[in-house]
Amino acid sequence: MASGSYKNGGPKLSAKLDRQHSAVYSTPKASAKSRPPATPASASGLRRSCAGNPASAPAGNKGDAGVPGRVRVAVRLRPRNAEELVADADFADCVELQPELKRLKLRKNNWDSETYEFDEVLTEFASQKRVYEVVAKPVVESVLEGYNGTVMAYGQTGTGKTFTLGMLGEEDNAARGIMVRAMEDILADVSADTDSVSVSYLQLYMETVQDLLVPGNDNIAIVEDPKTGDVSLPGTTIVEIRDQRTFVELLRLGEAHRFAANTKLNTESSRSHAILMVHVKRSVKGRHDAEPGLPSENGNASRLVSSLRPPIVRKSKLVVVDLAGSERIDKSGSEGHTLEEAKSINLSLSALGKCINALAENSPHVPFRDSKLTRLLRDSFGGTARTSLVVTIGPSPRHRGETASTIMFGQRAMKVENMVKLKEEFDYKSLCRRLDIEIDKLIAANERQRKDFEDEVERIRAEAQSHISEAERNYMNSLENERLKYQKDYMESIKKLEKKWRMNQQISNNDKTTVEHVQCLDKPCNIEGSTASNSDEITGVRQLLQNEKLLQESTEEEVNDLKSQVLHWKNLEGAASAEIIKLRKMLDNEANQKQKLEEEITILKGQLLQLSVEADETRRSLDRGGSGKILTGLDSLMSQARHSQIRDSGNGPKASIAKLFEQVGLQKILSLLESEDADIRIHAVKVVANLAAEEANQEKIVEAGGLTSLLMLLRSSEDETVHRVAAGAIANLAMNETNQELIMAQGGISLLSMTAADAEDPQTLRMVAGAVANLCGNDKLQTRLRAEGGIKALLGMVRCGHSDVLAQVARGIANFAKCESRASTQGNKGGKSLLIEDGALPWIVKNANNEAAPIRRHIELALCHLAQHEVNAKDMISEGALWELVRISRDCSREDIRTLAHRILTSSPTFQSELRRLRIEY
Ligand code: ADP
Ligand code: MG
Repeated sequence: MASGSYKNGGPKLSAKLDRQHSAVYSTPKASAKSRPPATPASASGLRRSCAGNPASAPAGNKGDAGVPGRVRVAVRLRPRNAEELVADADFADCVELQPELKRLKLRKNNWDSETYEFDEVLTEFASQKRVYEVVAKPVVESVLEGYNGTVMAYGQTGTGKTFTLGMLGEEDNAARGIMVRAMEDILADVSADTDSVSVSYLQLYMETVQDLLVPGNDNIAIVEDPKTGDVSLPGTTIVEIRDQRTFVELLRLGEAHRFAANTKLNTESSRSHAILMVHVKRSVKGRHDAEPGLPSENGNASRLVSSLRPPIVRKSKLVVVDLAGSERIDKSGSEGHTLEEAKSINLSLSALGKCINALAENSPHVPFRDSKLTRLLRDSFGGTARTSLVVTIGPSPRHRGETASTIMFGQRAMKVENMVKLKEEFDYKSLCRRLDIEIDKLIAANERQRKDFEDEVERIRAEAQSHISEAERNYMNSLENERLKYQKDYMESIKKLEKKWRMNQQISNNDKTTVEHVQCLDKPCNIEGSTASNSDEITGVRQLLQNEKLLQESTEEEVNDLKSQVLHWKNLEGAASAEIIKLRKMLDNEANQKQKLEEEITILKGQLLQLSVEADETRRSLDRGGSGKILTGLDSLMSQARHSQIRDSGNGPKASIAKLFEQVGLQKILSLLESEDADIRIHAVKVVANLAAEEANQEKIVEAGGLTSLLMLLRSSEDETVHRVAAGAIANLAMNETNQELIMAQGGISLLSMTAADAEDPQTLRMVAGAVANLCGNDKLQTRLRAEGGIKALLGMVRCGHSDVLAQVARGIANFAKCESRASTQGNKGGKSLLIEDGALPWIVKNANNEAAPIRRHIELALCHLAQHEVNAKDMISEGALWELVRISRDCSREDIRTLAHRILTSSPTFQSELRRLRIEY
């Protein structure tokens, strides 16, 4: 009776299974595709009860709660292998499968067995395709819909876990395992434009996560999101898959790496867990339009809201786990691992068992954190994933214990309930990208619109302009037409009038003839009124024409008259200009004449003087009784004078004055210097000056008191001409040494200084400077001359800047320097030059290179004289005279001066030391 009974909870379990089935077989989609086509009809009862609301799952999954979904467990029996066929030939399989009932009987012995119900029972004949469709396909479809999914194989080593999951099927296409088939379905379903598929492939061995795609990457950390609890492996290599070939290559690569890693670690792949992770990211389209509560009828608002709504992406993950062999390691001991190693090797697997037990028993604590595997599979058991477990068993009764344990694991796993949740989220990044693109589009559109607008404005403007131009053109044309029309009308009316007039004319002529004729025939007969009036009109016009003609004639006459008048005036003007030229010539002649006469007057005045003197004498001799002689004398003088005037007119006044001096007598002339008459005084002083110009007269003039009189004139007269002429005379007289002393004795220097100070005319200054210069040449007068301001007076005169004056000043200075030098040489003078004392040196230096040769020459001499005396040397250096001396010694055109300057420079110790100091080679 025990046979056929349910162990492990029996009917109770069965009832529970019924309830659980309703959740586990709920597929996200109601489509035929999503429903495993190979689902046996025997399961339909169970399935019917679960298919109640297939479509509601995803919609209901929007919240965090999710829907319940039990872990689905299938059992797969491996066919006997070669060894078993031989070894167990005499024994029956330890299991008996009832796939149509989804039951498995585990034989305890020949008469007793235990029955277990699974979600699927796959016999040793089950094809790989069918296994995939039963075990994995619902999970794959679920992943494609946005749920996480897990397919896991659990079982003893050699029972076909890898065969079930990892066969590549390259030689036999029918042998392809779950991994390959899953990827085929995934790639077939996703869109290359909007979705992406990527994989990572890992191995977990002795609590170490290794990257099977990049083997060097052999200690990958598991990271859990503290908020969501989501697990990730940030260090793994993730390869995007676009085609199946790439994926198979990756699996092969991973397998090779797994083999290499296990060889290196001296282990077997059966002891490690292989984990394939397939990340599927899909964008969800058109879903928000169906969202309730959106103002979809309000066009703009809706569009705006929808454009601001981030797109939805579903990021789901399919995890395919090929677990390590579930056999107890200590049972065989063949691998030679220590117990610790064995514990560590199977730590993950035993932790998984504990977690599943805890979950199956609804224990409040599930020890997920005990191992890396349980941490990684947290979502697969008791999490949000849709999980399908295939437990693989062998038929050999020798491994009955292991098979039983595997079956029990599967049974417990079937009790684990997950809360399947859609892995859907808002894709803010892509929203951001989309909005960026949107903004760019709007900007571009705006720019285009602006350009269009501007173009439109420009077009309208151009159009308006052309309208205006056209209107203007039309207006001008119509104006022109109008004008032409009027012109034409006008011409026509003129023609009409002319025609009319001609007709009238003809009529009038005819009428005349007629009248005459009529008059001849019948006198009282009357002509028509119009003919009469026409004839009147014609007469009037004729009269007017006549008047006009007359008027024109008179105007022409007038014009002619005016023309002749203009001609007349032009002639007159020509005559007048000729007259003017003639008159100008006459005027010039008159001016010449006048000048000549003035000169004559001067001469005559002189003669008049003479006559007055003569008259005086005559008066005196008359007094003495000898008048006749005098008169005769006067007569002869007059005649002589007249004669001499005629004779001397070519020699100028000088000759006549000399004659006058002879004839009139010096005393008389000098007395006229004090005449009351200013004119006489001027003439007299001129005469004296002329006389003084002759050396022969000078002594006589001085003897006669002329010098004194001249000096008196400087003091008494205010007339500058007198001053000028007198100073000139004094200058002439001052050429003589005796006269110089006399001049000095009579205070001449002061008088000359005074005159110089008042003078404005450069010629006056020239005379005064000449006089002083002469005085400067007197050795005896040096001190006195200086004391009475002679040097200062000289220097004062340079103010006028006239070269004649400057030449006299320079001469005076040179004279003075020469005398000083002489006195010093003779030992009559000590100390600095009085010229230097009176401040003459700056002016000397300034004019040492004057353009005017006379000035330059005098100054060069003066400098040489001053330089001859060591006592002056320092002042000369400080005033810059040294340079002038050097220049003179080099450039002066007069050789004697040049030599003198050179000699002075070489002999003067002061100059020498200064030249040395300045490093000038001399
Ligand atoms: P495991 O991965 O569980 O250790 P394997 O998948 O490597 O076991 O299988 C061990 C051996 O059994 C392999 O040679 C494999 O081809 C063979 N095998 C397993 N399952 C089947 C099956 N269902 N049909 C045929 N041969 C199988
Ligand atoms: Mg294997």
